[in-house]
Amino acid sequence: MPIEGLKDSSLFTKSCLVAGRWIEAGGDTGIAVTNPADGSLVGTVPSLGKETLREAIDAAESAQKDWAAKTAKERSALIRRWYELILENADDLARILTAEQGKPLAEAKGEIVANAAYLEWFAEEAKRVYGDIVPPPGNDRRVLVMKQPVGVCAAITPWNFPNGMITRKAGPALAAGCTIIVKPASQTPLSALSLGVLAERAGISAGVFQVVTGKASMIGEEFCTNPKVAKISFTGSTEVGRWLMRQGADTIKRLSLELGGNAPFIVFEDADIDAAVAGAMIAKFRNSGQTCVCANRIYVHESIAADFARKLAVEADRLKVGRGEEDGVTQGPLIDDAAVAKMEEHLKDALDNGAELVTGGKRHALGGTFFEPTVISNVKQTMKLAHEETFAPLAPVIAFSSESDVIEMANDTEFGLAAYFYTKDLARTFRVAEALESGIVGVNSGLIANEMAPFGGFKQSGLGREGSKYGIEEYLETKYVCVAGL
Ligand code: ADP
Repeated sequence: MPIEGLKDSSLFTKSCLVAGRWIEAGGDTGIAVTNPADGSLVGTVPSLGKETLREAIDAAESAQKDWAAKTAKERSALIRRWYELILENADDLARILTAEQGKPLAEAKGEIVANAAYLEWFAEEAKRVYGDIVPPPGNDRRVLVMKQPVGVCAAITPWNFPNGMITRKAGPALAAGCTIIVKPASQTPLSALSLGVLAERAGISAGVFQVVTGKASMIGEEFCTNPKVAKISFTGSTEVGRWLMRQGADTIKRLSLELGGNAPFIVFEDADIDAAVAGAMIAKFRNSGQTCVCANRIYVHESIAADFARKLAVEADRLKVGRGEEDGVTQGPLIDDAAVAKMEEHLKDALDNGAELVTGGKRHALGGTFFEPTVISNVKQTMKLAHEETFAPLAPVIAFSSESDVIEMANDTEFGLAAYFYTKDLARTFRVAEALESGIVGVNSGLIANEMAPFGGFKQSGLGREGSKYGIEEYLETKYVCVAGL
């Protein structure tokens, strides 16, 4: 099935990129990619076998030496060129993304542009990988600290940001002098493949950036157990993250993990309520609630909770649900039936236990996996949705009475990715920001990720950071060189 409106249809490829070769699905072994808006087939990508996967790993290993031997400036220029090509082709990439993922076109383009910025940033950072010269313990020697690439990296990426989660990982890896093999989510491999087309066009040579598709557990296991793979960077569920850690234990795999979240969004009594409502709309309903930093629990001071829930419902009713390609649509379909089932399970559990429906609450008239943006109030900390990530357009308002109580409730989770709060009180800003057990805290903002800041989780939300000056460290080893006999 063609994707309509592409200016450059060569970006829509269904072939994997292995060792500089494009490999199509053969016979009936492929993986069908469907459009979540209507279930139609968008294309079939290969289900690669283990031998081809090993070929990719071998190619990444041999390409890594040459890639690392380039000067930082040469690597920087190639990454920068890739970034520019992504921006030039952002409209087409957005169409491909929307066809496989469902999000509104404007949001798809937003994802692509905002995350291509990680390539721009790390193209710059490539030139700033500094070592140290440390005071030695004796005058006969010098203590040098060098930074070197970890080697071959593998990225496993999710379907909610099919394009952006790749540039976030490939940027620092390539900048550091590593090669990288990407395994995108089976639901959304086409965005990854289109990035492969542009990487090749940018002059990034064979084996440096590769894209493989196939059975996730087989690819995951090979990445984890193959000693040639030095590092895995994964974004996805905590469950799969745990599995990767276990599988990678025998080869002491370096891991960066961006896992699940259960973000609290707190509105204190002194907050600007309208600004908090606007922030909650972004933090909750962006990507139809399917981001790992989405507000999962909205805590509002009891004195303003009813008012807040009403205002949030007014805004939720203004959202336009529909196909991502349609003008003005703000809410696409959920990714699949399992996502709808989880939304319904959390909603039912809350309503059965005394929560009140303020707006929405059922599957959308469009059918399929479309769901009405939903707001519920009178929600309690004991309900299922307070302890599991809903990952859907369900906004639960939970009333609280004191700052210490809400901090305790906010931290009452094994996760610690993002947290948000709204207040005008400066002392409270620091108190609460420091008390929240999470890697990312938004104060008076519901949208905070950018390439200049470190993104990552506390607790079981993961390991490592993406973006910022810290992000490149994940792809570097520290070597101590002692030069003695001087
Ligand atoms: P989600 O629930 O959001 O789909 P997953 O953790 O299941 O999150 O998926 C995130 C990524 O991990 C996808 O690319 C998926 O194919 C991949 N994945 C799932 N299971 C495994 C596995 N056993 N080994 C390696 N990758 C896996």
